[in-house]
Parts: sequence; C-alpha cells; structure tokens
Amino acid sequence: MLERIKALLKLQAVDKEIRDINHAASSYPARLKEIDDDLGADRAASDEKQAELDEIEAQRKLIESQIQAQKDQIRKWESRLTDIKTPREYAAMSREIDIAKKSIRNQEEEILNLMEQAESLNKEIELIERTIFEKEKGYESERKELRAKLSSIEKDRSELEARRKNLSEDLEARLLSVYERILARKGGIAMAAVGPGGACEVCRMRIPPQLCNDLMTGAGDRIIQCPSCYRILYIPEPPEDDDGEEAHDAGAART
Ligand SMILES: [Zn+2]
Repeated sequence: MLERIKALLKLQAVDKEIRDINHAASSYPARLKEIDDDLGADRAASDEKQAELDEIEAQRKLIESQIQAQKDQIRKWESRLTDIKTPREYAAMSREIDIAKKSIRNQEEEILNLMEQAESLNKEIELIERTIFEKEKGYESERKELRAKLSSIEKDRSELEARRKNLSEDLEARLLSVYERILARKGGIAMAAVGPGGACEVCRMRIPPQLCNDLMTGAGDRIIQCPSCYRILYIPEPPEDDDGEEAHDAGAART
C-alpha cells in the first residue's frame, strides 16, 4: 500500500473519531436543556397553584373582615334595641339584625368552601413539590454525569485535533485538500476500500478492472478515486496478527 494512502487512512481514522465524539457531544446539551425544561414545567405548575392559593387566602381574609364588621354592627344594633321607643322601630332593627346574621352565615359557609379549596390546592402543591424534589435527586447525578462527559469529550477532542494536525502536516498540501474536500462533501468519509469483488465498499459501484489493477500495482504512485462517489480508493491489507503462533497456523500468504 502506498505510504500516502496509509497516511490518509490514519487521518481518516482520526477524523472518524472526531466526527463520532462531535455527534455524541451534540446530544448532551440537548439533554441538559430537556432536564431544565422538565423541572421548569413542574415549577411553573407549582407557581400557578400557589397563585391560586394566594388569591383564595386573600378572598378568605376579605370575607372574614366583612364578617367582623357585620358582627360589630350587630352588637351596636343590639345595644340600641333597649333604647328604642316604638315597636315599629324595634321590628325594623330586629329585621336588620336578622338579615345581617343570615348574611354572616352565608359568608361563613363561603369561607368553609374556600378553606376546602385551599386544602386541596395545598395537597396539589405538596405533590408537585415532592415530584420536583425526587426528580432533582435523579437529575442531579445525571447532570453531573453529562457535565463530566462533556468535559472529557473536550479533552478527547483537543487530543484528536492535535493528532490530526500532526498527521495533516505529513501530507502534501494538494492531496490534503483533495481529501478534505471529499471529507466535507461525502458525509465525513473520504476513503473507500475496494472489496474482494472489485466494488467500492462505500457506494457499492464496481470499479473498472484497469483501475483495480492500477490500485494493486500502485501504478505511477497515483491517487485513484472511485469513478462513482469520488472517494479515494485503497485495497485493504490483510490484518496483521499480533500473535506469532496464530500466524503460523493461519499460514496466510503474506508479502
Ligand atoms: Zn464509491
């Protein structure tokens, strides 16, 4: 295999890693936002219930002060009853007192009603708050994990970028620019192996036999692109065995 192809394959491997971690990294901020949105929705629901509760409490206090005013009024009227001279006046004042007492009873019922509403709102708020508390506990560790992953990705990314820079510097500028152009246009895959059947393993199109031949002989030290997808073609070398004994057993013909 041509040295230039070997260098390009190393670069392609690094570029693939960079692409993979960029892809992985892109999901983490989205997840962090999802967590914030979820808690935000619960908090908004809790705030809404709290506002309803506040309104009910204000209404209750208003009615209580009205009841108190009416009670004061009744006391005044009752104390005056003894001074009243005519039965007509007495009857009129008694009627006023009765009306006021009836109104108080209605208002007291209204207060009971409001208190029931407040109680159920309090229960709802408590439930939401408990849900938020439980979620926070779970999210806390997930957030930590996501942030740790993000920072470790940042570290990996800068290491990969450094490796990429080193590898790029060893390539001819023209070849590098061809590679990078294909990389950008072809979904981050610029290199394509030719399979045993003589087809490009990325776009699956058959490579003309003459080109295959040139690839195998390394004719003219030429870089050959797939006529269909324009990726840089190479013929993969048989995998090297690390283990000497197995190499003996396999008995594969190796050059
Ligand atoms: Zn192809």
